[in-house]
Amino acid sequence: MYNAQAYALGANRSCIRELFEYGCRQAAVVGRENVYDFSLGNPSIPAPPEVNQAVRDVLEQMDSLQLHGYTTAAGDLETRRAIAEDLNTRFDAGVSPQELFLVSGAAPALVSVLRALAAPEGELLTVAPYFPEYSVFAQENGLRFRAVPPDLPAFQIRPEAVEPMLNVHTQAVLINSPNNPSGAVYTRQTLQALAALLKRKSAQVGHPIYLIADEPYRELVYGEAEVPFVPTIYPNTIVCYSYSKSLSLPGERIGYVYVPAQAADSQALYAAIAGAARMCGHVCAPSLWQKVIARCASLRPDLAAYDRNRRALLEGLTACGYTVAPPDGAFYLFVKAPGGDAEAFSQAAKKKNLLVVPGDGFGCPGYFRLCYCVSYEQIQRSLPVFREVREKFCAGEGNL
Ligand code: PLP
Repeated sequence: MYNAQAYALGANRSCIRELFEYGCRQAAVVGRENVYDFSLGNPSIPAPPEVNQAVRDVLEQMDSLQLHGYTTAAGDLETRRAIAEDLNTRFDAGVSPQELFLVSGAAPALVSVLRALAAPEGELLTVAPYFPEYSVFAQENGLRFRAVPPDLPAFQIRPEAVEPMLNVHTQAVLINSPNNPSGAVYTRQTLQALAALLKRKSAQVGHPIYLIADEPYRELVYGEAEVPFVPTIYPNTIVCYSYSKSLSLPGERIGYVYVPAQAADSQALYAAIAGAARMCGHVCAPSLWQKVIARCASLRPDLAAYDRNRRALLEGLTACGYTVAPPDGAFYLFVKAPGGDAEAFSQAAKKKNLLVVPGDGFGCPGYFRLCYCVSYEQIQRSLPVFREVREKFCAGEGNL
């Protein structure tokens, strides 16, 4: 016998994975250069050279037993010190190493935090569009999952839309900025308005409503856009961070949870997160990568390649008649589906080997997502295909 819910999750691939694997199969048939795969958010810029150098350094310089041994569950103090110092330099945030808990990426960070907050009848509220795994993480860890409808076309957060969805069972509101899939960055004004609402509602319901800031894309921001450090706006914030995207290390599994001392019940909350991580089999974050982050916590990615892709795609798609959400961060464009049915559009595009992910799974039908962590050449080659698919689709030739 096995758990039916676990089986369902394991047996059914996500729509994104389906598309990606379809693209791999098609590449073998029509050639890699004739498949325009915008499905998967796998970084396409290499990790900064300093990261690889740090790996070599720790391998050469450190005692092997120490390098590969278990660390404390919360992680090496040296690493947490380096992260705290970086956050304090950038945001003047007063972070201390004891408030950080190192984990294997943002996904386990979120699972630990949600599990720690799961109370009987507890609810998690997020804002559409959202990372589809949120619903799995919440529901499988004891929280009812609810989503505020998207704020179109700005993709910010309207407190008027959030307020009616908050109630005495709301344990936390989960936000993600820069956002997957919209690429929007929540402005300081948006975050301040949300903070004011949560403060007022927490007082009304008689317990803190935490804000969970899921921030794997914090460093991926373009132009003048600012990514405020949420705990400096709302003290009851828990940050889930990862180096998967910022240092292009998604397979290495390293990140952290930050529970600010000024958050309500911060010490108990930190202990509950550590306990929840333990329930999920966490022992410690990968030791070698802890040592690398201790040396690389202040590194920032060189975003020139992503920015070039972002501009090329934005300009090219707009010129073909597409409407695109304001793409200030991450490496996604969220595009209005011609005709309004993103599933139908995605199916039609697939026939031309153009792979785009419908927004339905992100809680935002009517849009599709493009990951522009691809080669610049793919973007150039794909633009005529985007034009053709749109024209034929709008002319009612759905069956391309
Ligand atoms: N949160 C969001 C919004 C993401 O897009 C992702 C990965 O794509 C994650 C969390 C998980 O990131 P990690 O690889 O650090 O577990």
